[in-house]
Amino acid sequence: MKTLNDFNFKNKRALIRVDFNVPLNDKFEVTDTTRIVSAKPTIIKILEDGGSCVLMSHLGRPKGVQDEYSLKHIVDAVEEIIEVEVKFAPNCIGEEAEEAAKNLKPGEILLLENLRFHEEEKKGDKDFAEQLSKLGDIYVNDAFGTAHRAHASTTIVAQFFTENKCFGNLLAKEIDSIKKVMETGEKPVLAILGGAKVSSKITIIENILDKVDHLIIGGGMTYTFIKAQGGKIGDSICEDDKMDLALDILKQAKEKNVQIHLPVDVLAADAFSNDANTQVVDVSNIPDGWQGLDCGPRSKANFDEVVNESKTILWNGPLGVFEMENFASGTIELGNSIAEATKKGAFSLVGGGDSVAAVKQFGFQDKVSYVSTGGGAMLESLEGKTLPGIAAILE
Ligand code: AMP
Repeated sequence: MKTLNDFNFKNKRALIRVDFNVPLNDKFEVTDTTRIVSAKPTIIKILEDGGSCVLMSHLGRPKGVQDEYSLKHIVDAVEEIIEVEVKFAPNCIGEEAEEAAKNLKPGEILLLENLRFHEEEKKGDKDFAEQLSKLGDIYVNDAFGTAHRAHASTTIVAQFFTENKCFGNLLAKEIDSIKKVMETGEKPVLAILGGAKVSSKITIIENILDKVDHLIIGGGMTYTFIKAQGGKIGDSICEDDKMDLALDILKQAKEKNVQIHLPVDVLAADAFSNDANTQVVDVSNIPDGWQGLDCGPRSKANFDEVVNESKTILWNGPLGVFEMENFASGTIELGNSIAEATKKGAFSLVGGGDSVAAVKQFGFQDKVSYVSTGGGAMLESLEGKTLPGIAAILE
């Protein structure tokens, strides 16, 4: 696996795929700079080597060229964070971009206009990728968030750099964290899967059953498992067509010696609303007209115990409807347990889908070992897929 450390960038131009798909407010100011800050170590390492950086990214989902999606809006924010002047190329390909890239001196940065202003980017067009490849001597992929897409800048462009391509620091860290959980994690290894639906997590569950010792299943997925085993789930969310699959997962887990932990009690509500009436009931005995929206106190205590004994922890998906204050405590207490375990030396990785939003909302991002920067990319990694953006560097 080639990383930045395999290269000396002195007098070289690095063509870096970053993920600067940041949120902007109506004044076109960046409201969350996490992604720019995350790319900083890679950029600084290259500049300190005596190289220069050509940064390319997409922003939003433009239909053709649309000023509101121009990356010119983020030039100031990038300058402020990297603390180096940033030049801007108003088109990511073509003579002007090539000229600007060629004229870059060591220590300088050029930011290219939104890649998705060209439809060829998402199509993975080879000619477009070749034009991008002219802008650098070494290709660096540091965008985990788009590594599951075979787009021109994330995957196809790598073909034009036979030897001279590598992972940036951020992408290397993502790959490393996944490896620490899925391959080399210290036992006991625990995965916690929450979220709304079994159907969206099924491939992950099947893949990780071979890798973990314990699996906590929580959130809305719970009720498909409980009903499949004959429990009464009232009006809780359930995928009836996935009940056989749920039973099969329980069987597979037994065969593979994986201990499954489901909630034993829940906080049930008489409506899907923060103002609903609530009561704690057994997970297998939820009255009609009531639905489980968070885990109950006994479940929280059980989960805390499992988390505490684990040395490697993967967390994907909330344990309840955390967006509503009254049903957030299961997710918050789980976050606290993971923070405690991490403090005691466990490795904890949070990522995929909504988990990052929950972790940020409750301030856990500095209390876990690693928070992944890629939603879909993380989910696909957990499903055991090799992401095209990663494969393209390894080839
Ligand atoms: P996912 O994107 O699959 O991780 O699902 C996250 C969503 O699952 C969040 O929006 C939660 O509100 C939702 N969720 C968690 N627990 C429940 C539940 N018991 N009933 C309904 N939705 C839930």
